[in-house]
Amino acid sequence: MGFTHDTLAQRVTFAVEGAATTVASEISRLDAQRVMLVAGESATGVADRISELIPIAVRYSDIVMHVPVEAADRARAAAADNDADAIVCVGGGSATGLAKAVALTTGLPIVAVPTTYAGSEATPVWGLTEKGRKTTGVDVAVLPRSVVYDAALLTSLPADLAVASGLNALAHCIDAMWAPHADPIDRALAGEGIRALASGLPRVATDGLAGIEETLYGAYLAATAFASAGSGMHHKICHVLGGMFNLPHAQTHSVVLPHVLAFNAPNAVDAAARIAAAFGSDTASAGLTQLRTAVDAPRALRDYGLAESDLPAAVTAILPVIPADNPTPVTPENLAALLHAAWEGTDPR
Ligand code: NAD
Repeated sequence: MGFTHDTLAQRVTFAVEGAATTVASEISRLDAQRVMLVAGESATGVADRISELIPIAVRYSDIVMHVPVEAADRARAAAADNDADAIVCVGGGSATGLAKAVALTTGLPIVAVPTTYAGSEATPVWGLTEKGRKTTGVDVAVLPRSVVYDAALLTSLPADLAVASGLNALAHCIDAMWAPHADPIDRALAGEGIRALASGLPRVATDGLAGIEETLYGAYLAATAFASAGSGMHHKICHVLGGMFNLPHAQTHSVVLPHVLAFNAPNAVDAAARIAAAFGSDTASAGLTQLRTAVDAPRALRDYGLAESDLPAAVTAILPVIPADNPTPVTPENLAALLHAAWEGTDPR
């Protein structure tokens, strides 16, 4: 074996019903006195409870998916105007993304309280969108210092969004098997992430908190694997589609994932075998199909606002950003076929 793996410094707490008190103790560890609390409408209840326990300088709710630069600028101005010395963000990847945009230019420490399975809280990746182009970058300054997972906060997540978000986490695991910087530690984390997500996600609807906790655990492992391995073909495709056509993030990942898996698996034999083993299935694609059927996964990009006439522009924008060492060589023709299948929702196998 020859590789270098960076393990990122971050505290992680799992505490059912414990978000507010845990955030309070994390803010006290940071010795913060003027907190910017980023929380959207869906997180009002827990944001109120947190506000009672920590010194709030500004409460901020102007959260927009894919972090348009104008939204980032408004949030940075609010942090500066109120002299904030730390950020607490409560919400999905969009709330975390906004907090990261502020941390990127200010260096303020973040305590993140995730309410979806997106996993942004465990990565040093930031994203900003300007004029239909999503730019991402890596900077440890945006990695939350502390993450507080409270499964009770996800009981309000609508079932279809929980499914899409859980499959977004699964995409982190699968892409981490072959992304440009994938190493044996990433693959171990990703394998356990797949096992936990495949077991937990179908149980979210039936077993309540136990299913949510296992899915959160899988989502955290998924994000740590992705943070180290970097973006593979799957993430490159979804980032371009999300930025260019303003598609919903989690649903886009859910739809595209089986197509990328079927595309790469024949030329990524070891990765495919690991994925299959983690699912406990004969093949990687069979395991994913079984899970997608069990949770009634999103199927077609045309259901989320993408027009067939958008596909040629998507191919042109995606081709140059596909990693050169993707297991299956990508051509304009096979990429167009993959995107068309994802748009139409045909069986990728
Ligand atoms: P989101 O944060 O936009 O949330 C989707 C919707 O669900 C919103 O309307 C939100 O208010 C609502 N919601 C969230 N949690 C809820 C809850 N518990 N109960 C009820 N409603 C709830 O969506 P997302 O999929 O979590 O995040 C997507 C964004 O995160 C994208 O911009 C994506 O690029 C980014 N992301 C970044 C990384 C990274 O490493 N930087 C990783 C994953 C996702």
